[in-house]
Amino acid sequence: MADLLVLWDVDYTLLSAGGLGNRLYEAVFKDLFGRDLTAIAPKAGRTDRAILLDTLALAGVAEPQAHVDDFLAALARQVTEIDGSAAAHVHALPGAAAAIASLAGAGLRQSVLTGNIRPLAALKLAAAGLGEHLDLDVGAYGDMHEVRAELVPVARRAARAAYGTDFGGRSTVLVGDTPLDVAAALATGARAVGVATGSFPAADLAAAGAHIVLPDLTDTSLVLAAVTGQPLPVGGRERARLGSPVSTAVASQPSRGGGAPRRLAGQSRTDATGRASSRI
Ligand SMILES: [Mg+2]
Repeated sequence: MADLLVLWDVDYTLLSAGGLGNRLYEAVFKDLFGRDLTAIAPKAGRTDRAILLDTLALAGVAEPQAHVDDFLAALARQVTEIDGSAAAHVHALPGAAAAIASLAGAGLRQSVLTGNIRPLAALKLAAAGLGEHLDLDVGAYGDMHEVRAELVPVARRAARAAYGTDFGGRSTVLVGDTPLDVAAALATGARAVGVATGSFPAADLAAAGAHIVLPDLTDTSLVLAAVTGQPLPVGGRERARLGSPVSTAVASQPSRGGGAPRRLAGQSRTDATGRASSRI
C-alpha cells in the first residue's frame, strides 16, 4: 500500500467534547473582557482563529483582529487548567478507536487537521482515549490560519520533515464531518472522506464533493477501504455514498450553506472562513 497521510478532523468526526470548547471560550472571554459572552460564531468546520474573530466582532469588541492572538494564548493557558471533571463529557464516537487502530495496522501515517488549537485537540483526544497512533507533531491546528484549506500544506510539510516522504495529491486523505473539511481536501488535491456524524447529512457532504461519505466509523473495514480508495467490502456500497463527477462539479459552484471554498487565492475571507455557514 502506498504511503498515505491520514488527517482526521476531531470534533464530530472522532469525538464529541460535550460543549467543552464553548465553555472555554466563555471563561477566557470573561477573563479578558470582564463580561459574559452571549454568542459564539458558527463553528462547524472552521478554525479557532476564524471563529474567534467573528465571535469577538459579535460581542462588540472594537478591532477584534487585534485581540485574536491574545485570546488564543489565553485559551491555551486555560486548557492547562482544566481538571478531569471538565473533560468528563468528552467521548469517542462509535468506531473511532478501532478505525484508528486499523489504519495504523495497515501502516498508514495518521495525525489531525482540526480547527482546535493543539493543546485542546490533545486534551480532547486523550480524554476520549484516542491519542494512540496519532502523531500530533505533524498535525495542523486552528490557530495557524483562518482558512482550513491552508492547514493542509502545513501538515504535509511537517509530515515530509518527519517521515521523509512526500504526501502530495491524494497521498493525503482528510476525514471530516463538514463541507469545509471536504473543501479543504479538494482545494489542495487531497482525498476527501466525509463522515456524517456531525450536523451535516451524507447528501450535503457528497454535494460538497467528497470522494466517499460514510454514515459513521463503526464498520472498520469500510473505513479502511474508504481512506485508501480500495474496493469496498461486501455491503459497503449500501452503507457508503460514493462521490461522482456530478457531485464534484457541484462543489466548484458557490456553496449552498457549508461555505465550501475551492480556491486558496483571490477569494474573499467571508467565503474562505465559511461565514456563510449557520450550523454549529
Ligand atoms: Mg468536525
